[in-house]
Amino acid sequence: MPKEVIVLRYGHRHVRDYRVTSHCCLVARAFGADKIEIVGEQDTAIERTVSEMNERWGSGARVEFVGSWNERLAHYNKLGFTSVHLTMYGVPIQDAEKGLAGKDKLLVIIGSQKVEREVYEKSDYNVSITLQPHSEIAALAVFMDRIFDGQELSRIFPKAKIAVEPRNKGKKVRKV
Ligand code: SAM
Repeated sequence: MPKEVIVLRYGHRHVRDYRVTSHCCLVARAFGADKIEIVGEQDTAIERTVSEMNERWGSGARVEFVGSWNERLAHYNKLGFTSVHLTMYGVPIQDAEKGLAGKDKLLVIIGSQKVEREVYEKSDYNVSITLQPHSEIAALAVFMDRIFDGQELSRIFPKAKIAVEPRNKGKKVRKV
């Protein structure tokens, strides 16, 4: 199981991609990533959404907008990260996960619009979540669940101000 997971979102267009990029960030946070880096147009609304989430629901991954995926990949390579690009054309997760199991630090790259060929070539692994086209949000969620072996589902977020009191019917949130 990895000790550190960074999610790199390749491509973000201001306004147009707000909903999908912010959902990628919320999934990355909820499923236990340590940080989300976004390559694309700076969008303070996304930074605000995630930081408000961390403030209320507990400390989780924070967001940073970065200039170039290439520079970030080189940076994380130097720090000993294994890079995994999620793509429908990759090796199925059920075949790749044994190889990934022993890796301590993962850089998970998810696309948006068309991803340039170099990303496929420079990533250590290209991994698919089914061999069908779908979405970076779903691919990220399933990938995280597989690498954390389901343990992220019961993760506790420190410094939460509010928390859900789970119940079969109705909605209850309590102050922590
Ligand atoms: N048409 C784009 C292309 O050819 O790169 C793909 C766009 S898709 C909506 C956006 C992202 O979702 C992809 O870059 C990839 O990261 C992710 N994705 C979509 N389907 C996937 C799959 N089956 N397995 C893994 N990742 C997937």
